[in-house]
Amino acid sequence: MDRTAVTTEAPKSPWGSGTPAVPACSLTDVMSEQLARQLDEESNAFPALTEPGATLLFPDESPDTTSDLMLAQILQMQFDREFDDQLRREEKKFNGDSKVSISFENYRMVHPYEDSDSSEDEVDWQDTRHDPYRAEKPQATPRKGFTGKGKNITTKHDEVTCGRKNTARMDNFAPEVHVGDGLGMDLKLSNQVFNSLKQHCSSEQRRSARLHEKKEHSTAEQAVDPRTRLLMYKMVNAGVLENINGCISTGKESVVFHADGGSLEEQPIPDEVVLKVFKTTLNEFKNRDRYIKDDYRFIDRFSKLNPRKIIRLWAEKEMHNLTRMKRAEIPCPEVVLLKKHILVMSFIGKDHVPAPKLKDAMLGSEVIKNAYYQVLHMMQQLYQECNLVHADLSEYNMLWHEGKVWLIDVSQSVEPTHPHGLEFLFRDCRNVSTFFQKRGVSEAMSVYDLFNAVTGLNIPVGAENEAEFIAEIVALEKRNEGHVQRRGKKTFQVVSEDAGPPLKPDADD
Ligand code: ADP
Ligand code: MG
Repeated sequence: MDRTAVTTEAPKSPWGSGTPAVPACSLTDVMSEQLARQLDEESNAFPALTEPGATLLFPDESPDTTSDLMLAQILQMQFDREFDDQLRREEKKFNGDSKVSISFENYRMVHPYEDSDSSEDEVDWQDTRHDPYRAEKPQATPRKGFTGKGKNITTKHDEVTCGRKNTARMDNFAPEVHVGDGLGMDLKLSNQVFNSLKQHCSSEQRRSARLHEKKEHSTAEQAVDPRTRLLMYKMVNAGVLENINGCISTGKESVVFHADGGSLEEQPIPDEVVLKVFKTTLNEFKNRDRYIKDDYRFIDRFSKLNPRKIIRLWAEKEMHNLTRMKRAEIPCPEVVLLKKHILVMSFIGKDHVPAPKLKDAMLGSEVIKNAYYQVLHMMQQLYQECNLVHADLSEYNMLWHEGKVWLIDVSQSVEPTHPHGLEFLFRDCRNVSTFFQKRGVSEAMSVYDLFNAVTGLNIPVGAENEAEFIAEIVALEKRNEGHVQRRGKKTFQVVSEDAGPPLKPDADD
Protein backbone atom coordinates (compact mmCIF):
# COMPACT_ATOMS: atom_id res chain seq x y z
CA MET A 1 0.00 0.00 0.00
CA ASP A 2 2.91 2.30 0.72
CA ARG A 3 4.09 1.72 -2.77
CA THR A 4 1.16 3.66 -4.18
CA ALA A 5 1.87 6.54 -1.92
CA VAL A 6 5.49 6.68 -3.03
CA THR A 7 4.65 6.64 -6.69
CA THR A 8 2.55 9.76 -6.44
CA GLU A 9 5.48 11.93 -5.28
CA ALA A 10 7.36 14.22 -7.66
CA PRO A 11 9.53 12.25 -10.03
CA LYS A 12 13.09 11.81 -8.83
CA SER A 13 15.74 9.27 -9.33
CA PRO A 14 15.57 6.25 -7.10
CA TRP A 15 19.39 6.14 -7.28
CA GLY A 16 19.81 9.35 -5.33
CA SER A 17 20.55 12.86 -6.66
CA GLY A 18 22.15 12.98 -10.00
CA THR A 19 24.53 15.83 -9.25
CA PRO A 20 27.42 16.31 -11.62
CA ALA A 21 29.71 15.91 -8.56
CA VAL A 22 30.35 12.43 -9.77
CA PRO A 23 32.52 12.94 -12.75
CA ALA A 24 32.59 9.53 -14.28
CA CYS A 25 29.24 8.07 -15.17
CA SER A 26 28.93 4.91 -17.07
CA LEU A 27 26.52 4.50 -19.97
CA THR A 28 24.63 1.75 -18.14
CA ASP A 29 23.97 4.12 -15.25
CA VAL A 30 22.59 6.76 -17.54
CA MET A 31 20.36 4.23 -19.25
CA SER A 32 18.97 2.78 -16.05
CA GLU A 33 18.36 6.24 -14.68
CA GLN A 34 16.36 7.17 -17.71
CA LEU A 35 14.43 3.93 -17.58
CA ALA A 36 13.62 4.37 -13.93
CA ARG A 37 12.31 7.87 -14.56
CA GLN A 38 10.23 6.68 -17.44
CA LEU A 39 8.70 3.92 -15.34
CA ASP A 40 7.99 6.39 -12.61
CA GLU A 41 6.17 8.71 -14.97
CA GLU A 42 4.17 5.92 -16.43
CA SER A 43 2.99 4.64 -13.10
CA ASN A 44 2.01 8.17 -12.10
CA ALA A 45 -0.07 8.57 -15.20
CA PHE A 46 -2.16 5.49 -14.29
CA PRO A 47 -2.60 5.38 -10.57
CA ALA A 48 -4.87 2.36 -10.95
CA LEU A 49 -5.20 -0.39 -8.45
CA THR A 50 -2.98 -3.29 -9.16
CA GLU A 51 -4.82 -5.74 -7.03
CA PRO A 52 -8.56 -6.11 -6.78
CA GLY A 53 -9.76 -4.95 -3.48
CA ALA A 54 -6.73 -2.85 -2.64
CA THR A 55 -7.72 0.47 -1.09
CA LEU A 56 -6.77 3.58 -2.93
CA LEU A 57 -4.94 5.91 -0.63
CA PHE A 58 -4.15 9.47 -1.37
CA PRO A 59 -0.59 10.68 -0.85
CA ASP A 60 -1.42 12.75 2.15
CA GLU A 61 -3.53 10.04 3.70
CA SER A 62 -1.69 7.41 5.63
CA PRO A 63 -3.53 4.20 6.34
CA ASP A 64 -5.05 4.14 9.72
CA THR A 65 -3.38 1.21 11.27
CA THR A 66 -4.20 2.11 14.79
CA SER A 67 -7.63 0.56 14.95
CA ASP A 68 -7.57 -3.21 15.16
CA LEU A 69 -11.25 -3.33 14.38
CA MET A 70 -10.72 -1.31 11.22
CA LEU A 71 -7.86 -3.55 10.17
CA ALA A 72 -9.87 -6.66 10.81
CA GLN A 73 -12.74 -5.26 8.80
CA ILE A 74 -10.50 -4.34 5.90
CA LEU A 75 -9.00 -7.82 5.91
CA GLN A 76 -12.39 -9.43 6.17
CA MET A 77 -13.65 -7.38 3.25
CA GLN A 78 -10.65 -8.38 1.20
CA PHE A 79 -11.16 -12.03 2.11
CA ASP A 80 -14.85 -11.83 1.24
CA ARG A 81 -14.10 -10.35 -2.14
CA GLU A 82 -11.59 -13.04 -2.90
CA PHE A 83 -14.14 -15.63 -1.85
CA ASP A 84 -16.73 -14.05 -4.13
CA ASP A 85 -14.28 -13.95 -7.02
CA GLN A 86 -13.62 -17.63 -6.55
CA LEU A 87 -17.36 -18.30 -6.34
CA ARG A 88 -17.93 -16.40 -9.56
CA ARG A 89 -15.27 -18.45 -11.31
CA GLU A 90 -16.87 -21.64 -10.07
CA GLU A 91 -20.30 -20.47 -11.15
CA LYS A 92 -18.96 -19.71 -14.61
CA LYS A 93 -17.26 -23.09 -14.82
CA PHE A 94 -20.38 -24.86 -13.61
CA ASN A 95 -22.75 -23.16 -16.03
CA GLY A 96 -20.44 -23.16 -19.04
CA ASP A 97 -22.37 -22.35 -22.22
CA SER A 98 -25.54 -23.84 -20.87
CA LYS A 99 -28.65 -21.79 -21.56
CA VAL A 100 -30.01 -22.67 -18.18
CA SER A 101 -27.71 -21.40 -15.52
CA ILE A 102 -27.55 -21.73 -11.81
CA SER A 103 -26.78 -18.75 -9.68
CA PHE A 104 -24.51 -18.99 -6.66
CA GLU A 105 -25.71 -15.60 -5.56
CA ASN A 106 -26.91 -16.73 -2.19
CA TYR A 107 -23.45 -17.90 -1.26
CA ARG A 108 -21.84 -14.57 -1.94
CA MET A 109 -20.24 -12.76 0.99
CA VAL A 110 -20.45 -9.24 -0.35
CA HIS A 111 -23.84 -8.29 -1.64
CA PRO A 112 -23.94 -6.21 -4.78
CA TYR A 113 -25.40 -3.20 -3.10
CA GLU A 114 -22.66 -3.24 -0.46
CA ASP A 115 -20.13 -3.65 -3.17
CA SER A 116 -20.81 -0.64 -5.33
CA ASP A 117 -17.14 0.09 -5.94
CA SER A 118 -16.38 -3.39 -7.13
CA SER A 119 -14.22 -3.89 -10.16
CA GLU A 120 -15.40 -4.28 -13.72
CA ASP A 121 -15.41 -8.07 -13.83
CA GLU A 122 -18.60 -7.81 -11.88
CA VAL A 123 -20.40 -6.80 -15.02
CA ASP A 124 -21.28 -10.37 -15.90
CA TRP A 125 -23.10 -10.83 -12.69
CA GLN A 126 -26.82 -10.86 -13.30
CA ASP A 127 -29.40 -9.93 -10.83
CA THR A 128 -31.90 -12.72 -11.18
CA ARG A 129 -34.19 -11.33 -8.59
CA HIS A 130 -35.80 -8.89 -10.95
CA ASP A 131 -36.35 -9.62 -14.59
CA PRO A 132 -37.74 -6.57 -16.34
CA TYR A 133 -39.13 -8.77 -19.11
CA ARG A 134 -41.18 -10.87 -16.79
CA ALA A 135 -44.63 -9.52 -16.20
CA GLU A 136 -45.50 -8.88 -12.64
CA LYS A 137 -47.84 -11.56 -11.49
CA PRO A 138 -51.27 -9.98 -11.34
CA GLN A 139 -52.95 -10.24 -8.04
CA ALA A 140 -55.17 -13.28 -7.90
CA THR A 141 -58.81 -12.63 -7.17
CA PRO A 142 -59.89 -14.52 -4.09
CA ARG A 143 -62.48 -17.26 -4.45
CA LYS A 144 -65.28 -15.00 -3.40
CA GLY A 145 -64.77 -13.18 -6.75
CA PHE A 146 -63.98 -9.66 -5.50
CA THR A 147 -61.47 -7.73 -3.45
CA GLY A 148 -61.83 -4.59 -1.43
CA LYS A 149 -64.66 -3.26 0.61
CA GLY A 150 -67.67 -1.06 0.13
CA LYS A 151 -67.19 1.39 -2.69
CA ASN A 152 -63.72 0.15 -3.50
CA ILE A 153 -64.78 -3.33 -4.47
CA THR A 154 -62.93 -4.78 -7.47
CA THR A 155 -64.58 -7.80 -9.06
CA LYS A 156 -62.85 -10.44 -11.16
CA HIS A 157 -64.50 -8.86 -14.19
CA ASP A 158 -62.73 -5.59 -13.59
CA GLU A 159 -61.36 -4.38 -16.90
CA VAL A 160 -57.96 -3.36 -15.62
CA THR A 161 -57.39 -6.57 -13.65
CA CYS A 162 -58.56 -8.71 -16.56
CA GLY A 163 -56.40 -6.79 -18.98
CA ARG A 164 -53.34 -7.29 -16.82
CA LYS A 165 -54.13 -10.95 -16.38
CA ASN A 166 -54.50 -11.39 -20.11
CA THR A 167 -51.14 -9.73 -20.71
CA ALA A 168 -49.50 -12.05 -18.22
CA ARG A 169 -51.13 -15.07 -19.82
CA MET A 170 -49.38 -14.25 -23.09
CA ASP A 171 -46.34 -15.65 -21.33
CA ASN A 172 -47.90 -19.09 -21.71
CA PHE A 173 -48.04 -18.96 -25.49
CA ALA A 174 -45.81 -21.37 -27.39
CA PRO A 175 -42.13 -20.36 -27.33
CA GLU A 176 -42.10 -19.58 -31.05
CA VAL A 177 -44.79 -16.93 -30.63
CA HIS A 178 -43.13 -13.56 -30.30
CA VAL A 179 -45.10 -11.59 -27.78
CA GLY A 180 -42.70 -8.67 -27.77
CA ASP A 181 -41.42 -6.98 -24.65
CA GLY A 182 -44.77 -5.58 -23.70
CA LEU A 183 -44.89 -8.02 -20.82
CA GLY A 184 -42.73 -5.67 -18.82
CA MET A 185 -45.08 -2.75 -19.29
CA ASP A 186 -48.39 -2.25 -17.68
CA LEU A 187 -50.31 -3.50 -20.71
CA LYS A 188 -53.96 -4.38 -20.51
CA LEU A 189 -55.31 -6.68 -23.20
CA SER A 190 -59.05 -6.81 -23.60
CA ASN A 191 -60.62 -10.26 -23.56
CA GLN A 192 -61.54 -9.94 -27.20
CA VAL A 193 -57.99 -9.15 -28.30
CA PHE A 194 -56.54 -11.85 -26.06
CA ASN A 195 -58.92 -14.51 -27.35
CA SER A 196 -58.24 -13.79 -30.99
CA LEU A 197 -54.49 -13.77 -30.31
CA LYS A 198 -54.80 -17.12 -28.56
CA GLN A 199 -56.84 -18.56 -31.38
CA HIS A 200 -54.36 -17.32 -33.96
CA CYS A 201 -51.48 -18.88 -32.02
CA SER A 202 -53.02 -22.31 -31.79
CA SER A 203 -54.05 -22.38 -35.45
CA GLU A 204 -50.52 -21.29 -36.40
CA GLN A 205 -49.13 -24.10 -34.30
CA ARG A 206 -51.36 -26.66 -35.96
CA ARG A 207 -50.46 -25.32 -39.39
CA SER A 208 -46.74 -25.50 -38.73
CA ALA A 209 -47.12 -29.04 -37.39
CA ARG A 210 -48.90 -30.01 -40.59
CA LEU A 211 -46.24 -28.37 -42.74
CA HIS A 212 -43.53 -30.14 -40.79
CA GLU A 213 -45.28 -33.47 -41.28
CA LYS A 214 -45.55 -32.88 -45.01
CA LYS A 215 -41.90 -32.01 -45.21
CA GLU A 216 -40.99 -35.16 -43.31
CA HIS A 217 -43.13 -37.18 -45.64
CA SER A 218 -41.56 -35.72 -48.74
CA THR A 219 -38.10 -36.54 -47.44
CA ALA A 220 -39.37 -40.03 -46.78
CA GLU A 221 -40.42 -40.21 -50.40
CA GLN A 222 -37.00 -39.17 -51.47
CA ALA A 223 -36.11 -41.82 -48.97
CA VAL A 224 -32.82 -42.82 -50.41
CA ASP A 225 -29.39 -41.34 -50.05
CA PRO A 226 -27.53 -39.95 -53.08
CA ARG A 227 -25.40 -43.07 -53.37
CA THR A 228 -28.50 -45.25 -53.69
CA ARG A 229 -30.10 -42.84 -56.15
CA LEU A 230 -26.99 -43.07 -58.28
CA LEU A 231 -27.20 -46.87 -58.24
CA MET A 232 -30.82 -46.64 -59.33
CA TYR A 233 -30.00 -44.30 -62.20
CA LYS A 234 -27.24 -46.63 -63.26
CA MET A 235 -29.79 -49.42 -63.57
CA VAL A 236 -31.87 -47.24 -65.85
CA ASN A 237 -28.79 -46.34 -67.89
CA ALA A 238 -27.80 -49.98 -68.20
CA GLY A 239 -31.25 -50.81 -69.57
CA VAL A 240 -32.29 -53.02 -66.66
CA LEU A 241 -35.06 -50.57 -65.92
CA GLU A 242 -37.07 -48.45 -68.28
CA ASN A 243 -38.31 -46.03 -65.75
CA ILE A 244 -38.56 -45.67 -61.96
CA ASN A 245 -42.12 -44.62 -61.23
CA GLY A 246 -42.55 -44.06 -57.55
CA CYS A 247 -42.53 -45.37 -54.09
CA ILE A 248 -44.95 -48.14 -53.06
CA SER A 249 -43.97 -48.32 -49.43
CA THR A 250 -41.54 -46.83 -46.98
CA GLY A 251 -40.99 -49.14 -44.10
CA LYS A 252 -38.60 -48.99 -41.23
CA GLU A 253 -36.07 -51.19 -42.92
CA SER A 254 -36.73 -50.71 -46.58
CA VAL A 255 -38.22 -48.52 -49.27
CA VAL A 256 -40.02 -50.22 -52.14
CA PHE A 257 -40.23 -48.56 -55.56
CA HIS A 258 -42.25 -49.49 -58.60
CA ALA A 259 -40.38 -49.52 -61.91
CA ASP A 260 -40.91 -50.51 -65.52
CA GLY A 261 -38.65 -53.33 -66.52
CA GLY A 262 -36.12 -52.67 -69.28
CA SER A 263 -34.61 -55.15 -71.64
CA LEU A 264 -31.40 -57.09 -71.28
CA GLU A 265 -30.04 -59.45 -73.87
CA GLU A 266 -28.90 -62.07 -71.45
CA GLN A 267 -31.98 -62.05 -69.22
CA PRO A 268 -35.68 -61.39 -69.72
CA ILE A 269 -37.02 -58.75 -67.36
CA PRO A 270 -40.67 -58.55 -66.30
CA ASP A 271 -42.65 -55.55 -67.50
CA GLU A 272 -43.24 -54.37 -63.99
CA VAL A 273 -40.71 -54.74 -61.22
CA VAL A 274 -40.11 -53.48 -57.73
CA LEU A 275 -36.87 -52.21 -56.24
CA LYS A 276 -36.55 -53.04 -52.60
CA VAL A 277 -33.95 -50.67 -51.21
CA PHE A 278 -32.64 -51.76 -47.85
CA LYS A 279 -32.12 -48.71 -45.73
CA THR A 280 -28.58 -47.78 -45.05
CA THR A 281 -29.47 -45.95 -41.88
CA LEU A 282 -28.38 -48.61 -39.55
CA ASN A 283 -30.41 -47.96 -36.46
CA GLU A 284 -33.36 -49.91 -37.73
CA PHE A 285 -31.25 -52.93 -38.35
CA LYS A 286 -29.58 -53.08 -34.98
CA ASN A 287 -32.45 -54.91 -33.33
CA ARG A 288 -32.61 -57.37 -36.18
CA ASP A 289 -29.06 -58.51 -35.69
CA ARG A 290 -30.13 -61.75 -34.19
CA TYR A 291 -31.90 -62.87 -37.36
CA ILE A 292 -28.67 -62.80 -39.26
CA LYS A 293 -25.92 -62.98 -36.67
CA ASP A 294 -26.97 -66.41 -35.51
CA ASP A 295 -27.90 -67.69 -38.94
CA TYR A 296 -25.30 -70.38 -39.57
CA ARG A 297 -25.22 -69.59 -43.25
CA PHE A 298 -23.89 -66.11 -42.53
CA ILE A 299 -22.19 -66.49 -39.18
CA ASP A 300 -18.63 -66.39 -40.45
CA ARG A 301 -19.18 -63.42 -42.68
CA PHE A 302 -21.19 -61.42 -40.20
CA SER A 303 -18.41 -60.96 -37.70
CA LYS A 304 -16.04 -59.56 -40.31
CA LEU A 305 -18.35 -57.01 -41.90
CA ASN A 306 -18.82 -53.32 -41.45
CA PRO A 307 -22.41 -52.07 -41.02
CA ARG A 308 -22.82 -50.98 -44.64
CA LYS A 309 -21.94 -54.45 -45.81
CA ILE A 310 -24.31 -55.99 -43.29
CA ILE A 311 -27.15 -54.13 -45.02
CA ARG A 312 -26.11 -55.76 -48.28
CA LEU A 313 -26.24 -59.07 -46.52
CA TRP A 314 -29.91 -58.46 -45.78
CA ALA A 315 -30.63 -57.91 -49.44
CA GLU A 316 -28.60 -60.98 -50.29
CA LYS A 317 -30.46 -63.00 -47.73
CA GLU A 318 -33.81 -62.00 -49.18
CA MET A 319 -32.56 -62.98 -52.62
CA HIS A 320 -31.41 -66.44 -51.50
CA ASN A 321 -34.61 -67.08 -49.61
CA LEU A 322 -36.78 -66.02 -52.56
CA THR A 323 -34.80 -68.28 -54.85
CA ARG A 324 -35.36 -71.24 -52.55
CA MET A 325 -39.05 -70.48 -52.36
CA LYS A 326 -39.36 -70.17 -56.11
CA ARG A 327 -37.71 -73.57 -56.47
CA ALA A 328 -40.39 -75.04 -54.22
CA GLU A 329 -42.98 -73.24 -56.35
CA ILE A 330 -44.26 -71.10 -53.52
CA PRO A 331 -45.93 -67.99 -55.00
CA CYS A 332 -43.44 -65.18 -54.35
CA PRO A 333 -41.66 -62.43 -56.28
CA GLU A 334 -39.03 -63.59 -58.72
CA VAL A 335 -35.55 -62.21 -58.24
CA VAL A 336 -34.36 -60.13 -61.18
CA LEU A 337 -31.16 -58.61 -59.91
CA LEU A 338 -29.23 -57.80 -56.77
CA LYS A 339 -27.05 -54.73 -56.73
CA LYS A 340 -25.48 -53.97 -53.37
CA HIS A 341 -28.41 -53.15 -51.07
CA ILE A 342 -31.01 -52.94 -53.86
CA LEU A 343 -32.99 -56.02 -54.76
CA VAL A 344 -34.94 -55.94 -58.02
CA MET A 345 -37.79 -58.45 -58.23
CA SER A 346 -41.00 -59.01 -60.09
CA PHE A 347 -43.99 -56.88 -59.20
CA ILE A 348 -47.00 -58.57 -57.60
CA GLY A 349 -49.88 -56.56 -58.98
CA LYS A 350 -50.99 -55.15 -62.28
CA ASP A 351 -50.77 -51.85 -64.13
CA HIS A 352 -48.87 -50.09 -61.40
CA VAL A 353 -51.39 -51.18 -58.77
CA PRO A 354 -49.77 -53.42 -56.18
CA ALA A 355 -51.69 -56.43 -54.94
CA PRO A 356 -53.44 -55.76 -51.62
CA LYS A 357 -52.04 -57.19 -48.43
CA LEU A 358 -54.11 -60.07 -47.07
CA LYS A 359 -55.13 -57.75 -44.28
CA ASP A 360 -56.73 -55.34 -46.78
CA ALA A 361 -58.14 -57.82 -49.27
CA MET A 362 -61.93 -58.07 -49.20
CA LEU A 363 -62.49 -61.79 -49.42
CA GLY A 364 -65.72 -63.75 -49.11
CA SER A 365 -65.96 -66.55 -46.56
CA GLU A 366 -65.21 -69.32 -49.06
CA VAL A 367 -62.28 -67.44 -50.52
CA ILE A 368 -60.75 -66.67 -47.15
CA LYS A 369 -61.05 -70.34 -46.19
CA ASN A 370 -59.29 -71.21 -49.40
CA ALA A 371 -56.63 -68.61 -48.59
CA TYR A 372 -56.15 -70.24 -45.20
CA TYR A 373 -55.42 -73.64 -46.72
CA GLN A 374 -53.00 -72.01 -49.13
CA VAL A 375 -51.17 -70.41 -46.25
CA LEU A 376 -51.05 -73.68 -44.31
CA HIS A 377 -49.64 -75.46 -47.32
CA MET A 378 -47.12 -72.68 -47.94
CA MET A 379 -45.89 -72.79 -44.37
CA GLN A 380 -45.35 -76.52 -44.63
CA GLN A 381 -43.52 -76.17 -47.94
CA LEU A 382 -41.41 -73.36 -46.57
CA TYR A 383 -40.39 -75.46 -43.57
CA GLN A 384 -40.04 -78.85 -45.12
CA GLU A 385 -38.91 -78.13 -48.67
CA CYS A 386 -37.11 -74.79 -48.33
CA ASN A 387 -35.90 -75.45 -44.82
CA LEU A 388 -36.97 -71.95 -43.84
CA VAL A 389 -39.01 -70.18 -41.21
CA HIS A 390 -40.46 -66.88 -42.43
CA ALA A 391 -39.98 -65.21 -39.04
CA ASP A 392 -42.19 -62.22 -39.88
CA LEU A 393 -45.24 -63.93 -41.27
CA SER A 394 -48.51 -62.09 -40.89
CA GLU A 395 -51.36 -60.66 -42.95
CA TYR A 396 -49.02 -57.71 -43.68
CA ASN A 397 -46.48 -59.81 -45.54
CA MET A 398 -48.87 -61.84 -47.65
CA LEU A 399 -50.40 -60.34 -50.78
CA TRP A 400 -53.59 -61.42 -52.49
CA HIS A 401 -53.17 -61.57 -56.25
CA GLU A 402 -54.94 -63.53 -58.97
CA GLY A 403 -56.69 -65.76 -56.48
CA LYS A 404 -53.46 -66.69 -54.75
CA VAL A 405 -51.61 -65.80 -51.57
CA TRP A 406 -48.10 -64.51 -52.31
CA LEU A 407 -45.37 -64.51 -49.71
CA ILE A 408 -43.10 -61.49 -49.53
CA ASP A 409 -40.59 -59.89 -47.18
CA VAL A 410 -38.27 -62.79 -46.43
CA SER A 411 -35.03 -60.96 -45.64
CA GLN A 412 -35.27 -62.02 -42.02
CA SER A 413 -36.25 -65.62 -42.71
CA VAL A 414 -33.99 -68.20 -41.10
CA GLU A 415 -33.41 -71.90 -41.17
CA PRO A 416 -35.25 -73.88 -38.49
CA THR A 417 -31.91 -74.73 -36.85
CA HIS A 418 -31.37 -71.07 -36.05
CA PRO A 419 -31.05 -70.83 -32.24
CA HIS A 420 -34.44 -69.08 -32.12
CA GLY A 421 -35.90 -70.49 -35.31
CA LEU A 422 -38.68 -72.46 -33.67
CA GLU A 423 -39.69 -69.54 -31.49
CA PHE A 424 -39.97 -67.39 -34.62
CA LEU A 425 -42.09 -70.09 -36.18
CA PHE A 426 -44.36 -70.22 -33.16
CA ARG A 427 -44.89 -66.47 -33.48
CA ASP A 428 -45.69 -66.87 -37.19
CA CYS A 429 -48.21 -69.58 -36.34
CA ARG A 430 -49.86 -67.38 -33.78
CA ASN A 431 -50.22 -64.51 -36.29
CA VAL A 432 -51.72 -66.80 -38.89
CA SER A 433 -54.11 -68.58 -36.51
CA THR A 434 -55.29 -65.35 -34.96
CA PHE A 435 -55.85 -63.65 -38.32
CA PHE A 436 -57.89 -66.43 -39.88
CA GLN A 437 -59.84 -67.15 -36.72
CA LYS A 438 -60.76 -63.47 -36.52
CA ARG A 439 -61.87 -63.59 -40.13
CA GLY A 440 -64.26 -66.35 -39.24
CA VAL A 441 -62.43 -69.35 -40.67
CA SER A 442 -63.68 -72.04 -38.34
CA GLU A 443 -61.26 -74.58 -39.83
CA ALA A 444 -58.26 -72.51 -38.71
CA MET A 445 -56.21 -74.59 -36.27
CA SER A 446 -55.02 -73.43 -32.91
CA VAL A 447 -51.50 -72.05 -32.80
CA TYR A 448 -50.25 -75.32 -31.21
CA ASP A 449 -51.84 -77.58 -33.81
CA LEU A 450 -50.60 -75.34 -36.59
CA PHE A 451 -47.06 -75.44 -35.20
CA ASN A 452 -47.13 -79.23 -35.08
CA ALA A 453 -48.73 -79.45 -38.53
CA VAL A 454 -46.02 -77.28 -40.04
CA THR A 455 -43.05 -78.88 -38.32
CA GLY A 456 -44.22 -82.46 -38.00
CA LEU A 457 -42.94 -82.27 -34.42
CA ASN A 458 -45.42 -83.71 -32.01
CA ILE A 459 -45.03 -81.38 -29.11
CA PRO A 460 -47.77 -82.41 -26.68
CA VAL A 461 -50.47 -79.80 -26.72
CA GLY A 462 -51.99 -81.00 -23.43
CA ALA A 463 -53.59 -78.24 -21.43
CA GLU A 464 -52.64 -75.75 -24.14
CA ASN A 465 -50.46 -73.90 -21.74
CA GLU A 466 -48.46 -71.48 -23.86
CA ALA A 467 -45.59 -71.15 -21.39
CA GLU A 468 -45.17 -74.94 -21.27
CA PHE A 469 -45.36 -75.24 -25.03
CA ILE A 470 -42.72 -72.54 -25.52
CA ALA A 471 -40.52 -74.15 -22.88
CA GLU A 472 -40.63 -77.36 -24.92
CA ILE A 473 -39.70 -75.40 -28.04
CA VAL A 474 -36.77 -73.69 -26.32
CA ALA A 475 -35.50 -77.01 -24.95
CA LEU A 476 -35.66 -78.40 -28.45
CA GLU A 477 -33.72 -75.46 -29.83
CA LYS A 478 -31.01 -76.04 -27.21
CA ARG A 479 -30.65 -79.69 -28.17
CA ASN A 480 -30.52 -78.73 -31.82
CA GLU A 481 -27.83 -76.18 -31.14
CA GLY A 482 -25.62 -78.83 -29.58
CA HIS A 483 -26.39 -81.11 -32.45
CA VAL A 484 -25.50 -78.48 -35.04
CA GLN A 485 -22.28 -77.56 -33.29
CA ARG A 486 -21.15 -81.17 -33.10
CA ARG A 487 -21.73 -81.52 -36.80
CA GLY A 488 -19.48 -78.52 -37.27
CA LYS A 489 -20.19 -75.05 -38.52
CA LYS A 490 -18.75 -75.75 -41.92
CA THR A 491 -21.72 -77.82 -42.95
CA PHE A 492 -23.92 -74.74 -42.72
CA GLN A 493 -21.69 -72.17 -44.30
CA VAL A 494 -22.69 -72.65 -47.86
CA VAL A 495 -26.15 -71.55 -48.77
CA SER A 496 -26.93 -74.60 -50.85
CA GLU A 497 -25.98 -76.93 -48.05
CA ASP A 498 -28.90 -77.03 -45.69
CA ALA A 499 -28.67 -78.15 -42.15
CA GLY A 500 -31.78 -80.27 -42.50
CA PRO A 501 -34.80 -80.07 -40.29
CA PRO A 502 -34.25 -79.98 -36.53
CA LEU A 503 -34.31 -83.15 -34.51
CA LYS A 504 -37.60 -84.55 -33.35
CA PRO A 505 -38.21 -84.33 -29.62
CA ASP A 506 -37.72 -88.07 -29.27
CA ALA A 507 -34.66 -88.27 -31.48
CA ASP A 508 -31.52 -89.65 -29.98
CA ASP A 509 -28.69 -87.16 -30.24
P1 ADP B 1 -40.71 -54.24 -45.28
O1 ADP B 1 -39.56 -55.00 -44.74
O2 ADP B 1 -40.50 -52.77 -45.33
O3 ADP B 1 -42.04 -54.64 -44.65
P2 ADP B 1 -41.76 -55.54 -47.64
O4 ADP B 1 -40.97 -56.48 -48.45
O5 ADP B 1 -42.81 -56.13 -46.74
O6 ADP B 1 -40.76 -54.64 -46.83
O7 ADP B 1 -42.42 -54.50 -48.61
C1 ADP B 1 -43.19 -53.45 -48.14
C2 ADP B 1 -44.47 -53.31 -48.96
O8 ADP B 1 -44.12 -53.12 -50.33
C3 ADP B 1 -45.31 -54.54 -48.93
O9 ADP B 1 -46.23 -54.52 -47.88
C4 ADP B 1 -46.00 -54.50 -50.26
O10 ADP B 1 -47.16 -53.72 -50.18
C5 ADP B 1 -45.00 -53.82 -51.16
N1 ADP B 1 -44.23 -54.80 -51.91
C6 ADP B 1 -43.08 -55.37 -51.58
N2 ADP B 1 -42.65 -56.22 -52.52
C7 ADP B 1 -43.56 -56.17 -53.50
C8 ADP B 1 -43.71 -56.82 -54.76
N3 ADP B 1 -42.78 -57.68 -55.19
N4 ADP B 1 -44.78 -56.53 -55.48
C9 ADP B 1 -45.71 -55.67 -55.06
N5 ADP B 1 -45.64 -55.03 -53.90
C10 ADP B 1 -44.58 -55.28 -53.11
MG1 MG C 1 -43.23 -56.20 -44.69
